[in-house]
Amino acid sequence: MSNLTIRPIIGMETHVQLATRTKMFCGCPVEFGAEPNSRVCPVCLGLPGALPVINRRAVDLAIRMGLALNCRIATFSKWDRKSYYYPDLPKNYQISQYDLPIAAEGHFELPPRDAGEPRRVRIRRAHLEEDAGKNLHEGLDHTRVDLNRAGTPLLEIVTEPDLASADEAFAFASELQRLAVWLGVSEGVMQKGQMRFEPNVNVAITFGGVEYRTPIAEIKNLNSFRAIRNAIAYEIDRQVGEWRRDHDYTLEKCGKLNLGWDDDRGVTEFQRSKEEAHDYRYFPDPDLVPVTISAEQIDAIRSEIGELPLARQERLRMQLALTDVDAATLTADRATSDLLAAAIAVGGDPKTLCKQFISFWSAQANARSTTIAGLGVSAPRLAELANLTRDGTISATAAATVAQKMLDVPAAPREIAAAAGLLQVRDEAATREWVEQAVAANPQAVRDAKENPRKRQAAAGFLRGQVMKISGGKANPKLVGELIERRLAEP
Ligand code: ZN
Ligand code: MN
Repeated sequence: MSNLTIRPIIGMETHVQLATRTKMFCGCPVEFGAEPNSRVCPVCLGLPGALPVINRRAVDLAIRMGLALNCRIATFSKWDRKSYYYPDLPKNYQISQYDLPIAAEGHFELPPRDAGEPRRVRIRRAHLEEDAGKNLHEGLDHTRVDLNRAGTPLLEIVTEPDLASADEAFAFASELQRLAVWLGVSEGVMQKGQMRFEPNVNVAITFGGVEYRTPIAEIKNLNSFRAIRNAIAYEIDRQVGEWRRDHDYTLEKCGKLNLGWDDDRGVTEFQRSKEEAHDYRYFPDPDLVPVTISAEQIDAIRSEIGELPLARQERLRMQLALTDVDAATLTADRATSDLLAAAIAVGGDPKTLCKQFISFWSAQANARSTTIAGLGVSAPRLAELANLTRDGTISATAAATVAQKMLDVPAAPREIAAAAGLLQVRDEAATREWVEQAVAANPQAVRDAKENPRKRQAAAGFLRGQVMKISGGKANPKLVGELIERRLAEP
């Protein structure tokens, strides 16, 4: 068999729900989970004669995201009607932007993988539009329509087909979500459908000196990162398999198609062959004035953006010699990352702060389903706890206990540690007693440390840990180390 190469070609369309209080063209509140059809008015119900009015806040957020994606912002853009008929779309058209999107021709960099170059994904366009309502059929023998979501502001971001694998698409989607949330452009909660992804997937297959391209499949409405990765990986395999059976399975001969993703069964399913733009009969909306944006307005929004998450991640990684994963954790959300910077600025030891953020502070945040910033501990208190630990005034174990108490008591960390008896004891007699207890309780570790050079280090480390545990975290680790060495040197 002559050799065959496979190159996936993936583009991504993302619908981002903008973090506005009200809808795109009316004053109805944007609210998830409200009583069905309780957040509606003549405009978003599409009643005859009702006139839409542009939400300026949505325009500002779209510009902010566009700038962060290195797009050119249009100083003049307009609104178009995209016509289609569906029960969740009461006007029978969606207000969108067709030929003059608010942002275009940008790019977004993904973190390098395996110490390579950052990967650049070109952004074709980003345009504003309104969301449709929701058809509800679950557990019913009929369909109900909830129009609360109708008219919610969306930014649709479309990339060029620059993604080369399911993993890369996964990375793109999660980075885009981090960026949107970081910028306050969207709340970005996937479970609430605030970001929805539609990858376009096909495969270039080279075989016998000829390149074949499989039909482009658009996988509709994915709302988890895992689904993005699984659906794309499945689709690549499926297309290659179809082509192996029939070399006429090509874009040229079969056109484009829309697919759904069945998450339970782990398969894509055919929905319909894909519409072309002319099927939507786009035309300018006569009820809306065009959007004009001044250079001053763009500059003002640009000045609010500040350092982007990936840039900050890289800076922290370099300055504090962190791993990629730790640097990413510390820049997962802007408020937490700003809090870390503030704690360092008031004199907190950077290394210890990072360690404590990544370990017990994130554990506390996770346990409360919030972020570290959401715990509400001030920068000076975080800094003090870090410095008490660095100075050896309290042990690392005790720091975790103090942190827990800091969430309930407003006192200074040192006072909390003192009240809980966690200040470290440099008392030789007490420490020697704890060492003796650890030695007596762990004869095997003592034998290993004395007789087996290969196990010596690990066994001594184990004994140190046991002493710290017996002391309730109060022992001074340095003194413990010295006393254990002395004890092991005894015959
Ligand atoms: Zn309304
Ligand atoms: Mn759209």
